Amino acid sequence: MSDSGRYLKVCLDCFREFRSNGKNAKYCPECKERRERERRQEFKSGRQTAEKIRPAAKSLEKMTIGQIVAEAEREGLTYGQYVGKMSFRKK
Ligand SMILES: [Zn+2]
Repeated sequence: MSDSGRYLKVCLDCFREFRSNGKNAKYCPECKERRERERRQEFKSGRQTAEKIRPAAKSLEKMTIGQIVAEAEREGLTYGQYVGKMSFRKK
């Protein structure tokens, strides 16, 4: 079991030691898997997560209903879905 990897690394996420064959491995298998899963989910929920949604989320309170509806339509969502998504993302 202990010979699963050549290099002894410390996971940058949970700071546990783990062994890896990859010299540049940064995360233990558990964290690596979790991170990959999270990344896949982000992809699934829409590509324009980071760049496009953040500025909009910041100004959601300042937007008029009409603007929000327009934004929602641009993303192919209903008003309710859009606001839900925004409030979900805010934190
Ligand atoms: Zn880890």
